[in-house]
Amino acid sequence: MYNRRKFIKLSAVSASLAALSRSAVAKSLSSISPPNLPIVISTWDFGIIANKEAWKTLEKGGRALDAVEAGVKIPEADPNNHTVGRAGYPDRDGHVTLDACIMDEFGNCGSVAAMEYITHPISVARLVMEKTPHVMLVGEGATQFAVEQGFKKEKLLTPESKKAWKEWLKTAKYSPVINIENKHHMPGSKYNHDTIGMLAIDAKGNISGACTTSGMAFKLHGRVGDSPIIGAGLYVDNEVGGATSTGVGEEVIRNVGSFLVVELMRQSYSPEDACKEAVKRIIKKKPETAKQIQVGFLAINKRGEYGAYALQSGFSFAVCNSDKQDLLIKGKSIY
Ligand code: ASP
Repeated sequence: MYNRRKFIKLSAVSASLAALSRSAVAKSLSSISPPNLPIVISTWDFGIIANKEAWKTLEKGGRALDAVEAGVKIPEADPNNHTVGRAGYPDRDGHVTLDACIMDEFGNCGSVAAMEYITHPISVARLVMEKTPHVMLVGEGATQFAVEQGFKKEKLLTPESKKAWKEWLKTAKYSPVINIENKHHMPGSKYNHDTIGMLAIDAKGNISGACTTSGMAFKLHGRVGDSPIIGAGLYVDNEVGGATSTGVGEEVIRNVGSFLVVELMRQSYSPEDACKEAVKRIIKKKPETAKQIQVGFLAINKRGEYGAYALQSGFSFAVCNSDKQDLLIKGKSIY
């Protein structure tokens, strides 16, 4: 016969063992002052120049939050970057709509989505976090808030982006082309990939993250991806670590990807293993879709150990600490 009492006893023992090992993990993650701090990591090759900017704040002993904001503003302002910020490719109707979010060591976060006319969505996201009782502003409301905060309203569509959009219109498929690294976006663009997600740990051991993108090129007007969604495109827990993502945002949202990676690290997965497990969840939910799209995760734990994993090969990430300012690492992949 099923012995309920024994079961309860056993579950009590295993629960307290689990609690013990969890607190051991939490302790080991929080009671360290590793020599490799401060550190900043970001997605893709343009992460190198972004990290260098972030490093200026970190090396002076500045706050990770200031570092990540300053860092991702570099690709946001780059006229040759057609996947982040002001020169991003427009949606199918010719509107450049930008998504970004930011999160600090206290769990504060701010976000803007589908925002037009403002070059630095990351800075608007930060002000949403700091100056409003809200987490997220979208569309016209986000632009209105930005203008009220003193941001300049500009027409963002660059001649190059307009040309690429006109070219796309010739065959205009309403379902946006799936982002496979090196195969998507328009030929000739300097950067033919993706979102910048940045994670930094400052000298005090505090973690912050930022994520900013123009989203999928030629998306439906109003489409929002994972990048401005806290838990999907970015998540930070100062006791554990942080994670960010790039690639087809819909699949990341379905799996609450970055939150999942951080929670796996809480359970003592290494950053790389946590990213790999999150990638596997995407495959499990949609095995056929997963073969044709790119999604990559990047993570760092409280010790400053980092790792990444992607569906497809070609994902890279940049690392910057006092040893090295311009390290580009090839992320591992399933396919
Ligand atoms: N994750 C972004 C989005 O879905 C795009 C990308 O990283 O390629 O909007």
